[in-house]
Amino acid sequence: MAKRVAIIGGGSSGLCAIKACLQESLEPTCFERSWDIGGLWRFEEHPEEGRASIYRSVIINTSKEMMCFSDFPVPEDFPNYMHSSKIMEYFRMYAQHFDLLRHIRFRTSVCRVSKRPDFAATGQWEVVTESEGKQEAAIFDAVLVCTGHHTEAHLPLSSFPGINNFKGNYIHSRDYKDTQDFTDKRVVVIGIGNSGADLAVEISQTAKQVFLSTRRGAWIFNRVGPHGYPIDTILTTRTNAFLKNLLSQSMVSNSVEKHTLMAPCTFRVLDQHPTINDDLPNRIISGRVLVKPNIQEFTETSVIFEDGTREDIDAVVFATGYVFSFPFLEGCVKVVENQIPLYKFVFPPDLEKPTLAFIGLIQPLGAIMPISELQCRWATRIFKGKQDKSPLWLRPKYVKSRQHTIQVDYIPYMDELASQVGVKPNLLTLFLTDPKLALEVAFGPCTPYQYRLRGPGKWDSAREAILTQRQRIIKPLQTRLMEEHPSAPTMPLFFKLVGAVAILAIGFAYF
Ligand code: FAD
Ligand code: NAP
Repeated sequence: MAKRVAIIGGGSSGLCAIKACLQESLEPTCFERSWDIGGLWRFEEHPEEGRASIYRSVIINTSKEMMCFSDFPVPEDFPNYMHSSKIMEYFRMYAQHFDLLRHIRFRTSVCRVSKRPDFAATGQWEVVTESEGKQEAAIFDAVLVCTGHHTEAHLPLSSFPGINNFKGNYIHSRDYKDTQDFTDKRVVVIGIGNSGADLAVEISQTAKQVFLSTRRGAWIFNRVGPHGYPIDTILTTRTNAFLKNLLSQSMVSNSVEKHTLMAPCTFRVLDQHPTINDDLPNRIISGRVLVKPNIQEFTETSVIFEDGTREDIDAVVFATGYVFSFPFLEGCVKVVENQIPLYKFVFPPDLEKPTLAFIGLIQPLGAIMPISELQCRWATRIFKGKQDKSPLWLRPKYVKSRQHTIQVDYIPYMDELASQVGVKPNLLTLFLTDPKLALEVAFGPCTPYQYRLRGPGKWDSAREAILTQRQRIIKPLQTRLMEEHPSAPTMPLFFKLVGAVAILAIGFAYF
């Protein structure tokens, strides 16, 4: 009999979890508390309790070739950076193509997950769900937690003296939908993560004045890179990952250097989750957004900043991020102040059996979807018993997770997972057998298709997907025929050849 897997949540992580289970001949049942798929990306004015909430205008900041699932490229005519409605279209196509919907029980919340009395021997879980007021319990061989970590607002009111006396309105970015309530107001936005930057830009279109308060500043990246190529397709390459601390930091610094005056910061460019916003520098340079330091205190009608300046304020937006918790997992894992010990951000280390996995509980310098997908491919193989629990699990080397310390570098982390699954591309073999592909894998954008070239779950079209990725990037921009398209800035051919020879030499020396 196929092992039964409970998947909690039908967002992007839940969808690829269902697919990974099917690929390993496991029997998935996905419980989704709302009536539809998509999780955070399905915009609604009033989303269901317990589901993440986004604003009407939100546009993803990871480009289509970098955020897609590894065996399902985003259609070539879709824009490189998609609005939430377009992302939903893509998720629906994915669910339909792989026939995933029939494994989802909508309007069903998981309210309790507990070990069975014989857990030490069987690794089984009792999962209690609630649908239309009725509770039901069922036994599962494994559980994949795909509930997201951008649902519960982090509203640190105690850090802001006087906020209780403030007579204006304040909200968390989670509850922001559009500019309606802010027109002609003087507004302070707190936090310069991607929410703070997006909201400051949008609100400043109609507000009297926007102040953007930040305690540490930020490096601001553009979505649009040289020649109009998505910046993540230029920066997220194996070459850059390899040279990270030499070339890459300075290369990345140079590409954002022109913005360092906007919100000066003291940390290095890739040391924290990047703030990506093409419009913010314009709003700042035109004075519509004024960058301010941290807030010292609120009065009834104003804000006093740490530099002693005081501004009259009508409304406040706390873009101060999110916290996560798993109330249904009674006592199985402990989250203390957003910290959860997980082996490779996936498995609780101290369970007798590795039958519980957390998916997407990471803050990558890149897209979450392909990471969730590879985590699912790994977890399902562990559930299936095709791979052993690594002896490393016994070492106290677990990562302490917090909203911004669950941060991972995209390529090293993907490669680490891929090594576990047995799907990490082998550059040496590629250079010897398929140099054209090898050059694109080594020097081009590290797209998710690279993890379908070999091993379990190999996809026959992965090679073609890699070799045509640049065409899909250019396609939506081809508004008229041009003799020649400017190519994405990559390493000059000479350096590529030197790099290829170096890889071969290192490869031969190693073996
Ligand atoms: P979610 O999309 O949050 O889905 C979780 C699902 O679980 C929901 O449908 C929820 O209803 C369901 N659920 C929760 N609890 C239960 C329960 N007890 N029982 C049953 N169902 C339950 N990431 C990127 O990679 N690129 C981006 O550009 C990007 N932009 C973002 C923009 C914003 C404004 C925010 C807030 C986040 C952004 N993210 C981005 C991160 C985002 O979290 C991921 O893109 C993605 O949505 C994570 O998918 P998920 O399925 O893990 O979680
Ligand atoms: P976030 O990245 O956690 O940023 C929170 C911000 O609030 C940080 O600047 C932080 O400052 C500040 N902050 C937190 N507590 C504070 C306090 N007590 N006092 C002062 N400042 C405080 O949260 P987010 O911006 O909501 O982003 C969440 C996730 O959604 C990220 O993955 C992000 O990429 C994603 N997102 C994407 C888009 C998009 O694709 N367009 C839009 C929005 C969000 P410190 O850095 O000093 O801690």
